[in-house]
Amino acid sequence: MIAALGKTKLEKEIDTFSRDQRKVLYQNTFAIELNENCSGGCFFCGFESKLGTPQNFIQSDFLEQIASEMSEDWTAKRCILLYDQTDPLDHPDYFNILKMFEDRGIGIATTTTIPAGTEEKSAENLSLINRISISHVNRERLTPHFQDLGIAVYLDLQNYLKLLGKNDPFEDAEQGIRVEKSVKETIDNLFGRYPFLPKQTRFYDLRRDGNNERSQVQERETLFLYCDDSTHPSPFSKITDRDYFGVLNVGRAFNLDLNERGSNMFGKSRGVKITPNGFFNVYPIKPTPQNRTGRIIEQITPEDFRVLEYNELHDYPSSTDRIEDHYVKAA
Ligand code: SF4
Repeated sequence: MIAALGKTKLEKEIDTFSRDQRKVLYQNTFAIELNENCSGGCFFCGFESKLGTPQNFIQSDFLEQIASEMSEDWTAKRCILLYDQTDPLDHPDYFNILKMFEDRGIGIATTTTIPAGTEEKSAENLSLINRISISHVNRERLTPHFQDLGIAVYLDLQNYLKLLGKNDPFEDAEQGIRVEKSVKETIDNLFGRYPFLPKQTRFYDLRRDGNNERSQVQERETLFLYCDDSTHPSPFSKITDRDYFGVLNVGRAFNLDLNERGSNMFGKSRGVKITPNGFFNVYPIKPTPQNRTGRIIEQITPEDFRVLEYNELHDYPSSTDRIEDHYVKAA
């Protein structure tokens, strides 16, 4: 039994759900939101997260008890998120919590903006991060940490070719990048000569304007930034550059990132979410101006559903018995 030890509403109220009810909730959990507020402030946020100082943290020892209870009935090796309307690293003990769940056979997927102050810790735990999201919101801050975070920046082509173990067929690389009149001509020329370059190769002048792609190139000021090229092994493939595409969806609809594990175009984040304030039912709807996230989030109370023992299921075909069948909305 999980005692109401902590200060969060979740910790105080969790025992109002029976063990069987919690079992059903855990079986349907897609995320545990470790705290309130998000430090990210991403303009493209599809979750309408509340920007602010992270607070009301679920304590690690309490999460350990949840992980233990979850793993007791973990029939399928599932993967959940330890965040939703938050950045995972907003919780100061994130990596230990992640390991705590994974040690119990519960997979954890991590996408993060590397919040301010977590740069070094993130570099140390890079293997535990699945995806780093960079944009003009955090690019300048993260620039000094790019190398440590596996975001590759090359001052010249020679270093890059060395890394790939390739010989330069034109022996140009030692001279640096051949700079043409425009970025496009320079890139086109590079691809013509070195077709193995990452598809998303592009220029940034990180010293002067870290937020925009360059419109002009100048020899010796050119920096290469390689991002998210699927032909490269990790760590190159774990970067999402939000500024790259020129146009960007804002909101959840058609967001491929959100859709990566599901078949619903409006996102995969559905089911039960656990937050410091309790258990919530999250289900997707078509986004509208009134509901731009395309999600309805409702608190679940112990009165909202009942759990039947198998011997009570004679009226239900057990193979299709699901939580939705027993969900009873409180009056
Ligand atoms: S996209 Fe993620 S990190 Fe950015 S504001 Fe939204 S929840 Fe926070």
